[in-house]
Amino acid sequence: DGITLEQVREYVWEIPQEGDMRVPARVLASEPLLEQIGDDLTLKQLKNSTHLPGITKYAICMPDGHQGYGFPVGGVGATDTETGCVSPGAIGYDINCGVRMMRTNLTYDDVQGKEEELVEALFANVPSGLGGGGIVETDRETINDILARGMDWALEEGWAVEDDLEHCEDEGVRYDADPSAVSQEAKERGRNQVGSLGSGNHFLEVQRVTDIYREDVADAYGLEPNQLVVLIHCGSRGLGHQTCTDYLRKIEKRHGDLLADLPDKELAAAPAGSELAEQYYGAMCACINFAWTNRQLIMHRTRQVFEKVFGREWQDMEMHLLYDVAHNIGKKEIHEVEGEERELYVHRKGATRAFPAGHPEVPKAYRDVGQPIIIPGSMGAGSYVLRGGEQSLDLTFGSTAHGAGRIMSRTQAKKEFWGGDVQDDLQETQQIYVKAQSGATVAEEAPGVYKDVDEVVRVSDALGIGDKVARTFPVVNIKG
Ligand code: 5GP
Ligand code: MN
Ligand code: MN
Repeated sequence: DGITLEQVREYVWEIPQEGDMRVPARVLASEPLLEQIGDDLTLKQLKNSTHLPGITKYAICMPDGHQGYGFPVGGVGATDTETGCVSPGAIGYDINCGVRMMRTNLTYDDVQGKEEELVEALFANVPSGLGGGGIVETDRETINDILARGMDWALEEGWAVEDDLEHCEDEGVRYDADPSAVSQEAKERGRNQVGSLGSGNHFLEVQRVTDIYREDVADAYGLEPNQLVVLIHCGSRGLGHQTCTDYLRKIEKRHGDLLADLPDKELAAAPAGSELAEQYYGAMCACINFAWTNRQLIMHRTRQVFEKVFGREWQDMEMHLLYDVAHNIGKKEIHEVEGEERELYVHRKGATRAFPAGHPEVPKAYRDVGQPIIIPGSMGAGSYVLRGGEQSLDLTFGSTAHGAGRIMSRTQAKKEFWGGDVQDDLQETQQIYVKAQSGATVAEEAPGVYKDVDEVVRVSDALGIGDKVARTFPVVNIKG
């Protein structure tokens, strides 16, 4: 569709600024990845996003980028908090969708022969699927408490230990949260979903560590070959989705003038300083707290399942949170732009924060080596642990990829794959045990619908935005 990319240097491509674009756009990719990115609306959406008021430096697409609602998945856009705007579509419907990794001191040997028991026990005890309820039922007061205090609430209720909070972005609480800015309808949807995976792309996977690339960093993260780890991917469920919908509608109505100047209605944005910008930010932060609590409850329930299956206490199995990353999120951050420190709304949608060693927001335990980054691959491929790279602040406002990224739509996937066949194949050829609420989900998430995660991570490492630390491989997987 006539979008020209100029190569800046290896793995860096630019859509030059022209017309009403406020800044250029950049795509970070190798040639094979770029070919896949060019297949859908990704580049068009990326170019559109350069029209957002107050956007700074450039709009950026990560190597796993693909088309999303208005703004690409794998997109990063930073806008000025005084003169810019905040755009719900550039954060995503599943607010604080993210992944956390829990370590154990078990090895692959400990689980071989027990895979079926483990997968059944996890499936029976971790709520998943569209309906299904959560680990805890909450009333109005409790849901407001969770929205305001996130993992502090979980700690108080015995669903977390101090150490969990110390190993989570923002220690598991956004104090900017404003529960009163979240609608009753959204709260009602979230009320019985606290501690639930949800459906589709969300999963819980037990994995084994297969490769270590940076020994010193792996040491600091407590990772070694053959070790079992647990990966949990989910977000803010119906609550986040409803909140995104609510604010898109409100913003479209009240800020129609701003919208009229944007090339795509889906980019609807509230001007910085407006009432809706403040309310949306407060509501989004509340959804962030909900999602952290959600992943925390699932992780703690997983500890209890392991206690039953392996007959040991979770502390004895050293089941500690390695780190929790958000990959659909907006945050006020200070970044240096052309030698000047500025406060920006950094929108990361399908992109992971990747702060380097020494950054004050990296938890103390990891400050000398850099922030852990967790990049899932697929239920039939490797996943990766990276650390924030030295180039990330300069190139990407401290961000990198969030996954392999889709290459096939869900509709297409259901034509290409049959869930039962995918499951049998994974078990027979790779000893991966998958259990899902529906066969359609397995087809929609078949390994073949995703790009090559090894290539995505290779590019991140080569650019120095996220450096390879370790690779893992699935052992058992449950999904909605
Ligand atoms: P998203 O948040 O965009 O839905 O997904 C993040 C990434 O998770 C996807 O890009 C894909 O690479 C990865 N992924 C999806 N399903 C699975 C799974 O079952 N296991 C693992 N390890 N990764 C997955
Ligand atoms: Mn996600
Ligand atoms: Mn999600």
